[in-house]
Amino acid sequence: MRILVTNDDGVHAPGIALLEEIARQFSDDVWVVAPADNQTGAGHSLTLSSPVRLRKHTERRWSVTGTPTDAVTMGLKVVLDSPPDLILSGINAGANLGDDITYSGTVSAAMEGALAGIRSIGLSQVMGPDAPASGDRFAAARGWSARAIAPLLDAPFAPRTLVSINFPALEPDAVQGIRVARQGFHDYARGTVEERRDPRGFRYYWFGLDAVEHTRGHDSDLEAVEDGYVSVTPLQLELTHAASLGVLKERYRG
Ligand code: MN
Repeated sequence: MRILVTNDDGVHAPGIALLEEIARQFSDDVWVVAPADNQTGAGHSLTLSSPVRLRKHTERRWSVTGTPTDAVTMGLKVVLDSPPDLILSGINAGANLGDDITYSGTVSAAMEGALAGIRSIGLSQVMGPDAPASGDRFAAARGWSARAIAPLLDAPFAPRTLVSINFPALEPDAVQGIRVARQGFHDYARGTVEERRDPRGFRYYWFGLDAVEHTRGHDSDLEAVEDGYVSVTPLQLELTHAASLGVLKERYRG
């Protein structure tokens, strides 16, 4: 089994080193093609207005000066001589839950894999304000990734679908188990914009992340992680809101 490992935090991020280790538990044929720099928040963007450069670190470890989507594209079209059986993206330093999925470079790399017809999984480690007692912020991912990935290796994946996994910010022995859950949603639009001044007095801005509330009762990924479970969420690329098709067709009728 050939595995392509990628991420959005960049080729030197600790999460991808961990994911590469985990991938090697399943295969000897593991390749890494990842962004050269941190691309968190890049979503499913593609670099179209500047050239992309490819750097070979070792025979099976490469970086791309571009987005996670660029990295997967370069992996499939340039680096690998035959396609992988599995794409693993992550392990992201931070959650990719609920509405945040559309911002996620980690999940988008898996989306690109799904578009190419390859079994693809995004993995994210939720991080609280403090590290768990062991000091290992990836503790739950380290302890639970192989268990979370193994059942997906021969599970049916419908075309244009992928799976997103989130690990709670807990020590492995405090994790309650694995829960398959739907994508949740936050109660209101997220994010803050902080205005600051540079040394010359000019304004600049930082986008911040607020703790965002969610309503329970939807069997969601947000709820699963809150309850201490690893969440496993099947996602589809088709965004059509089926129930609105009829409503709008009616509006546009002759
Ligand atoms: Mn990231």
